[in-house]
Amino acid sequence: MKNSEIADILDEIADILEFKGDNTFKISAYRKASRNIREFPEDIEQLWRNGELSKIPGIGKNISDHIDEYLKSGSISKYKEVLENIPKTFVELMKIPNLGPKTLKLLYDRFKIQTIEDLKNVLEKPETLTLPGMGRKKIENIKQGLDLYISKKAEQRISLGVAFPIVSEIVEYMKPVCTNISPCGSLRRMKETIGDIDILCTSNNPENIIKRFVKYPKALRILAEGDTKGSIIVKEKSLQVDLRVVEPDSYGAALQYFTGSKQHNIKLRTLAKEKGLKISEYGVFKGEKKIAGKTEEEVYRVFNMPVIPPELREDRGEIEEALKGNLPDLVEQKDILGDFHVHSDFSDGSNTIEEIVQKSISLGYKFIGIADHSQTSKFAGGMDKQKLLERNKKIDEVVQRYPGIKIFKGAEVDILGNGNLDYPDEILAQLDFVIGSIHQGFHKNVTERMIKAMENPYLDIIGHPTGRLISGREGYDIDIDRVIEYAGRNGVALEINAYFDRLDLNDINVLKARQKGAMLVIGTDAHNINMFEYMKLGVAVARRGWLDKKRILNCYRVFDIPLRRKRLNK
Ligand SMILES: [Zn+2]
Ligand SMILES: [Zn+2]
Repeated sequence: MKNSEIADILDEIADILEFKGDNTFKISAYRKASRNIREFPEDIEQLWRNGELSKIPGIGKNISDHIDEYLKSGSISKYKEVLENIPKTFVELMKIPNLGPKTLKLLYDRFKIQTIEDLKNVLEKPETLTLPGMGRKKIENIKQGLDLYISKKAEQRISLGVAFPIVSEIVEYMKPVCTNISPCGSLRRMKETIGDIDILCTSNNPENIIKRFVKYPKALRILAEGDTKGSIIVKEKSLQVDLRVVEPDSYGAALQYFTGSKQHNIKLRTLAKEKGLKISEYGVFKGEKKIAGKTEEEVYRVFNMPVIPPELREDRGEIEEALKGNLPDLVEQKDILGDFHVHSDFSDGSNTIEEIVQKSISLGYKFIGIADHSQTSKFAGGMDKQKLLERNKKIDEVVQRYPGIKIFKGAEVDILGNGNLDYPDEILAQLDFVIGSIHQGFHKNVTERMIKAMENPYLDIIGHPTGRLISGREGYDIDIDRVIEYAGRNGVALEINAYFDRLDLNDINVLKARQKGAMLVIGTDAHNINMFEYMKLGVAVARRGWLDKKRILNCYRVFDIPLRRKRLNK
């Protein structure tokens, strides 16, 4: 339903008209229409198609023309018109609770504020108090609204796995007109969640770049269209994407600057100061003279460092290690020789073992581990003993046809309430590997259960060790440090579950695991063969956790995989 999409735009038009001091009758007509559209229980597009827009109260000729235009073309010309002559950032400022267009106008006329930063600053100024109607109480209210807005915005971060394909598509769309192009910010650092998205490019023909960008077919709205900067909201997830065109001579410096993180850049700036240099998005300068900026290599070379991989740029010691020439040799996608966490149609997966094997071969994998659910996970088609044996037989059969790849018989076995595994040892003994996972009792002695499960010599891997979901579930009540330590001491591998909503372990816990000497394994938890794609997200988490390929089971050749029981070697 496009009801709320359209209501949002009408609200914004009303806000801007109010800011401009337009006719109050007109403004309230927009607001009334917006509210009625938002609350109307039927799909506005359907009504429009049936010529029944008038069923919604408060929709006159004018508004109904807007709706018609929007549903035909995806934009409303009135919206573009009212946006002229006001800073584009106002659309955002007007969303701040307790601020309102009138107060914004007051602050704009007096201080020319344009951004949230500006607003924050003027709220601290004593002069602000002297403006008409701006008592202490009012300022306190605006501050509260601002805090609320900022924390809400922070919550709106979306998972890397959702943002990544959206941005890749835009980059592909822009590539033909750019000489260089790259996303920057948290997406380039492959952080697990992303806020707004920044893309940076250079071109021989810069004036056409932004024109093409704002015509992106999946753009829902255009927020800004300048000579060197454009900003759109894309339909998928209403994500804001900014594109910036920079001089080729500054591309490296800009890429470095806009990739961040803030903390990483602060440290680099301090380092520059110590050397009597200045670093900015335009380059590295000695006095007036620019000494680097075209590439990131150039920029980091000034500090006697190799380019620090973006995933490490969090000020977690990477600059110090780079200066000593000690950066880790991070794992890469090409190092991944197989996956250990795939569900077939013997439990709740949708593909047959044969299809899984074919997909694995097409990815160049040397092995694939099938890990179907165990009997207690009935909700997930968990296999009873009989079915498990049947599945093993099926694997033996498929192996005959695909001699080029090793198929490991595994299972994702529930860790039960008492810490026992969900199959008796004589069944576990018939498997090549065992993942132990908690799927029930998230708040009941989770740490103790996991440690008890790890005492079982048949357990090789702890699956999704903290149980969190990025979209909102906090995860188990668990002392993850204890689990990591135990795993490190006893040769149990911890999973980086690569499913986009899990990414569990996360980067911080992977770093801890690395320090404690634990082995890690990346599992896609694929329930269909398209989900094999998520491996790259798992690799990103591993890289953010400073892992090289020696620490990751997926990177070993079949006969060298260092599982505790070494049964895989047979
Ligand atoms: Zn699971
Ligand atoms: Zn699973």
